[in-house]
Amino acid sequence: MNLNSRHPLRLNVGFLLHESIGYSRTFDFDLPSVQVSGDLDVSHMQGELRLTRTAQGLYGQGQLRATTSLECVRCLAPFDQEISARLNDLFVHPPGASSEPLLAIPETAILDLSPLLREYFLLDVPLQPVCRPDCKGLCPECGNNLNEIVCSHPASDIDPRLAGLQSLLSKD
Ligand SMILES: [Zn+2]
Ligand SMILES: [Zn+2]
Repeated sequence: MNLNSRHPLRLNVGFLLHESIGYSRTFDFDLPSVQVSGDLDVSHMQGELRLTRTAQGLYGQGQLRATTSLECVRCLAPFDQEISARLNDLFVHPPGASSEPLLAIPETAILDLSPLLREYFLLDVPLQPVCRPDCKGLCPECGNNLNEIVCSHPASDIDPRLAGLQSLLSKD
């Protein structure tokens, strides 16, 4: 409800601001694809956000999940990663009362969730994304994706995560 089809993350919350304290409304999201910001596109965004009128503004609680395309750090192939954003935030109205611009509801009463969702979604993106836990990466000799091709080059001797253990063992 109240979802603007062109800007689905912009909620018109004017009606909520006119309700009495304690009144709440849940916004459902089910978006095939949405540009959260210039640097973040997501697909299959689903979830809900409940906004409750408080003396200071609107308290938002909810969780949104989405899929974004990342590049695997081992094999460099693109893959879909699920990311989520959990909101427990007070959106302040009137906006001057907030020191945090992302949490201020402007005078227009259009609450744009994009900048806040961008923060939460990006926090949930792994620093070293891998397409799957056992990704074999690229062959250091020929550059083939070892998930797809078995090349003739010898496998690099040992899992780098075990290299420290190996050097301990070889001291004896
Ligand atoms: Zn990979
Ligand atoms: Zn190779």
